[in-house]
Amino acid sequence: MAFQCDLGNGQSIYLHNQGDKTVITLCSSNQGQQQRSSSSFITGGWQGTPQIDRVNDAIRVKIPTATQEYVFSIVHNSITSLTDNEPAQPETIPLSPLQNMPPMPPMKMGDMSMNLGSMTMTMGNMSMSMGEKYCSQCGAKVNTNAKFCSECGHKLG
Ligand SMILES: [Zn+2]
Repeated sequence: MAFQCDLGNGQSIYLHNQGDKTVITLCSSNQGQQQRSSSSFITGGWQGTPQIDRVNDAIRVKIPTATQEYVFSIVHNSITSLTDNEPAQPETIPLSPLQNMPPMPPMKMGDMSMNLGSMTMTMGNMSMSMGEKYCSQCGAKVNTNAKFCSECGHKLG
């Protein structure tokens, strides 16, 4: 099952149910450039049509499944699940003073990895990437600084 929702401003949301996963893809096109970011969540199979609501600047996506209703919040390009990590109590995280800002090395922690150079993040079975560029002619993924498409040779803006 798959659905599309046009948010206006060149932004749209695609929802797919693949097996027991819900895949949420955000697409935005801006001056001929397309950006996509995709996240997948284990929800189980859908038991109906998802619902999308706009709440101020956020988009609320509700996915009905056999076990429960999953709710996701989309703000700009980030998708968070409101179902799994609803905090019961606010928790204050201690701050410590920092003298010098160290350069950020690529990080790897268990099954989570983050690469700030290409803005990709993988966490368990969820992956997210930003700043990707796609050929406007054939839709192939191309290097962000490529001048021409490696698939069809189309000149990239
Ligand atoms: Zn192309």
